[in-house]
Amino acid sequence: MYYPQPIADLIEGFMLLPGIGPKTAQRLAFHVLNMKEEDVMGFAKALVNAKRHLHYCSICCNITDVDPCRICSDPARNREMLCVVQDAKDVVAMEKTKEFNGRYHVLQGAISPMEGIGPDQIRIPELLRRLQDTDVNVNEVILATNPNVEGEATAMYISRLLKPAGIKITRIAHGLPVGGDLEYADEVTLSKALEGRREI
Ligand SMILES: [Zn+2]
Repeated sequence: MYYPQPIADLIEGFMLLPGIGPKTAQRLAFHVLNMKEEDVMGFAKALVNAKRHLHYCSICCNITDVDPCRICSDPARNREMLCVVQDAKDVVAMEKTKEFNGRYHVLQGAISPMEGIGPDQIRIPELLRRLQDTDVNVNEVILATNPNVEGEATAMYISRLLKPAGIKITRIAHGLPVGGDLEYADEVTLSKALEGRREI
């Protein structure tokens, strides 16, 4: 495949994205060529802005454009409940249920010995620090990590870590498809899982 350099660069750029192989990248690159110039400019700007203006909340580790994020700084949020999730997308899924009015902690991953990811590679130290320093009023931690091997291992690890501090630890109920991802659960399933959480 010999493309003019600008096209080759564009194809290479698309291939950096997850789930995009050479064929799709090529199709997307040619699609961009047919787009209106203002749309291409808008898209390019959105890419750069997202990278430049989004960072992690210093309290909950969620992605945000203001620090602390809007959820952490919302006085209407219940400060006694903390929901621990793996990913920023899981916060969105939980918010959609409208069943949870506490705050979050985003781990940015899960413990996975197979991939060499230990507790310190995700935001567990930050979780401990906030429970000790800034969020001393938390009396329930809901572990809403994914219902798969890594998610369960992560929930178990955090539960063992927090138990001695006397905090109530709950795990969202199954009914969520096992092996699945929280972000793909529909709102009803997720609110039921939240409702049916049990102490561990
Ligand atoms: Zn936050």
